[in-house]
Amino acid sequence: MLPLLHETYRELRPRAPLPEFELQFYPFANINNTIRLTDGRMRLRLSDLLEGAPEPILKAIVHILLAKIYRKPIDTGHTSRYRRYVASREMMQKAQQVRQLRGRKRIESAQGAYYDLDEVFETLNLRFFHGLLGRPVMSWSAERSRRLLGHYDPAHNAIIISKIFDQARVPRLAVEYIVYHEMLHLKHPVKMRGGRRCVHGKEFREDEEAFPYLQEARLFLKTL
Ligand SMILES: [Zn+2]
Repeated sequence: MLPLLHETYRELRPRAPLPEFELQFYPFANINNTIRLTDGRMRLRLSDLLEGAPEPILKAIVHILLAKIYRKPIDTGHTSRYRRYVASREMMQKAQQVRQLRGRKRIESAQGAYYDLDEVFETLNLRFFHGLLGRPVMSWSAERSRRLLGHYDPAHNAIIISKIFDQARVPRLAVEYIVYHEMLHLKHPVKMRGGRRCVHGKEFREDEEAFPYLQEARLFLKTL
């Protein structure tokens, strides 16, 4: 991997001294890659989904990261090569998650009779999260549960919403509120505090309070 890093660096900066490189594959929840230059050390963290990727793909992502950090123009060939690869990996990964879930917990679909959870997710993602959250598997539950209205399952990267919300009499803001809550679990992973699992921490609750139709949604939930 080192020759590839050096070669890609040289293409962008032919004469500058080589920094020391450090490369790690890291289990990011979504495909994510980061770069940081501190005290002459260039630290690259690549998603472990790219481990074992063909060399042109690794070269593409290294080029993109280095070009970003040095504010050089990014070669469009590299960008499209990388994007094509990631798209196909993400599709494969998602297909696998769906298969696993179907095998284990009877997953239904994101498209309900009244609401499409994929669409609700993307709308909220743009509105409240700058479109930055990777969409997990979205599904309506098999039963109309009143006890478990929604949950995020990190093991399968899936958000399951109780089918009780998929009715004409349920206002969209109530569906959005439940999905928004589960999306906050993506944004704020469970933390350990003094041996205790902290699921709804301070930042989580602050974000939840920011939901514009919080009062109406909570009032409606009482009627379910
Ligand atoms: Zn919760």
